[in-house]
Amino acid sequence: MSAVTTAMFDFHIHTTLSCDGRCTTDEVCRKAIEIGLDAICFTEHMDLDPADPGYGFLNYGQYCQQVEEARRHYGAKLTIFKGIEIDYQSRFEDEIRDWLADKELDLVLGSVHYVDGAMLSEEMIGRRDLDKIYLLYLDEVRRSAESGLFGVIGHLDYIKKFTGDARYLDSNEQLRPALEKALRAVIASRAALEVSTKGLVAKSRDYRPSFNIVRLYKRLGGRTVTIGSDAHDCQVLGTGVAKLQRICEKIGLLVITSPSNPTFRPSPGRRAR
Ligand SMILES: [Zn+2]
Ligand SMILES: [Zn+2]
Repeated sequence: MSAVTTAMFDFHIHTTLSCDGRCTTDEVCRKAIEIGLDAICFTEHMDLDPADPGYGFLNYGQYCQQVEEARRHYGAKLTIFKGIEIDYQSRFEDEIRDWLADKELDLVLGSVHYVDGAMLSEEMIGRRDLDKIYLLYLDEVRRSAESGLFGVIGHLDYIKKFTGDARYLDSNEQLRPALEKALRAVIASRAALEVSTKGLVAKSRDYRPSFNIVRLYKRLGGRTVTIGSDAHDCQVLGTGVAKLQRICEKIGLLVITSPSNPTFRPSPGRRAR
């Protein structure tokens, strides 16, 4: 393995504590050290929609315990943060706020996986008008930012996971006002925008969101991003994170490397509202 010259971070990782994770906390830590990551943030799923397959899956107490154990074992070599990926649906905003109220988290990631009460999927998208789905999706992303609940807005343009069309959103003029509105809401909320490398190994073969959209975010006044692989197994942990960090920094974005970063709000759900 070549020497690591700059610090490397992966701030979006699932383990078997998430309903769809395939590696244990311990396996992720060992792999992270092996590939030269300096810091990781676990972002286990928290779904507050009773109809979601992940509803009730996360045992928060067990999660805290496993992170503490991992820090004891690997803390000298690896900085380990404890985050959460909350599925955002505006109709469950009160439940999300209540759940966050007594949690101690380093990073709260808000991600939209549903529109109109239906989970985004290839099948669901195939049945409906794509522009309409995008408009509903972008509106829900805007609401997620405006809720003030999240320190980071996750994997914008999640829809391309299912269409495989990497640049549909970038090039569609009809969707541009809704996209800009969502990005402006992210900026106004002082949340960071996540850039996920997961799409690099999926059929769209591109970041989520694309780098065109990351540049648009910057042009509109966005300053901060987090970077994560959204790994559900160890094989893809840290995919492309070092390169992405370099290109984000090159265009003048601040890549969040620690929740203690002054521009970062670790757990906004705990703020008095
Ligand atoms: Zn997600
Ligand atoms: Zn995820």
